[in-house]
Amino acid sequence: MTQPVRPEPKPGVMDIAAYVPGKSEAPAGVAKVFKLSSNENPLGASPKAVEAVRNVAAALEFYPDGAASRLREAIGEVHGLNPANLICTNGSDEALGLLAQAYLRPGDEAIFTEHGFLVYKIYIQAASAVPVSVREKDETADVDAILAAVTEKTKIVFLANPNNPTGTYVPFEEVRRLHAGLPKNVLLVLDAAYAEYVRRNDYEAGIELVSSFENVVMTRTFSKAHGLGGLRIGWLYGPAHVIAALNRTRGPFNVNAAAIEAGVAAVRDREHVAKSVEHNEQWLSWLTRELTKLGLRVTPSIGNFVLIHFPDERHSAALADDYLTARGYILRRVAGYGFPNALRMTVGTEEANRGVVAALADFLKD
Ligand SMILES: *Cc1c(COP(=O)(O)O)cnc(C)c1O
Repeated sequence: MTQPVRPEPKPGVMDIAAYVPGKSEAPAGVAKVFKLSSNENPLGASPKAVEAVRNVAAALEFYPDGAASRLREAIGEVHGLNPANLICTNGSDEALGLLAQAYLRPGDEAIFTEHGFLVYKIYIQAASAVPVSVREKDETADVDAILAAVTEKTKIVFLANPNNPTGTYVPFEEVRRLHAGLPKNVLLVLDAAYAEYVRRNDYEAGIELVSSFENVVMTRTFSKAHGLGGLRIGWLYGPAHVIAALNRTRGPFNVNAAAIEAGVAAVRDREHVAKSVEHNEQWLSWLTRELTKLGLRVTPSIGNFVLIHFPDERHSAALADDYLTARGYILRRVAGYGFPNALRMTVGTEEANRGVVAALADFLKD
């Protein structure tokens, strides 16, 4: 066998479509830029979290607590969870990657849904496993379709609930039915990145399922309702045996000192979260209503974003994106999610929301 002439990544790595983050820049000359492309909190972070980061700046030479104990305790306190069943991560993305790494062997299968969060597929492929995409129904994950896709090789089912970029959700009775239909050796990953925003009686993030079974985990993030995307803080709640596995494969100091301290302050600042959620509630329904009035179809969302569908070639998502970007409104293209003719818009400040609706009204007149 001839040796390669240079180091080669293992098979499959170069087949991965790298994640493309939401844009953050408008063309030169735009007076004000509204970044509505990554579901960030328009009210920003809690002032208490900002203060905590300032304080950390005075002692940057010290390694952080590798177990992020203070943060796990604060999360445990606020959510009523045992800190021993929590692991903090560098964004919840890291938790998703750690799960794939620890539970998928080459050739294993992992399931996600048609319009599901793209990060799942990347980590499945990085683990040399087989990504299995399952059809959705009405832009919503379909429990029967997921169960029908399970084979002997299936090791993980990833479910974003609510999902990004659709904003749709699976009611908890359906999640329960999904879990009940899975073999005991299949790990159900409930990605509840937007749980704070949800105001539905039939929704649950998954805490009860995790507490009752050995094969369910829930991931959460500080990037959305807590407004700390820049610090990269996520966490996972899971049974002790899963935590034990992930604590062996994670980086020893995967959550940095600023993240730990900001996270502690942010999770305890219930008022800031409540204010953020209230703002979202008001403007999510306003946006949905106003965009619909313009004749645009909006997928019913319970997150902090809306998926806006464009009607035709003259008024395509690509043209709308150019039109909005030129005016400083940065939305998210979602062709990679199976929506070539839609844009995802984060619920922004009042000024941003009104601005986008006015700009789209003009765009559609042309
Ligand atoms: C934003 C988002 C995340 C969170 O990512 P972080 O790494 O915590 O910033 C996870 N899942 C979904 C579905 C998301 O939209």
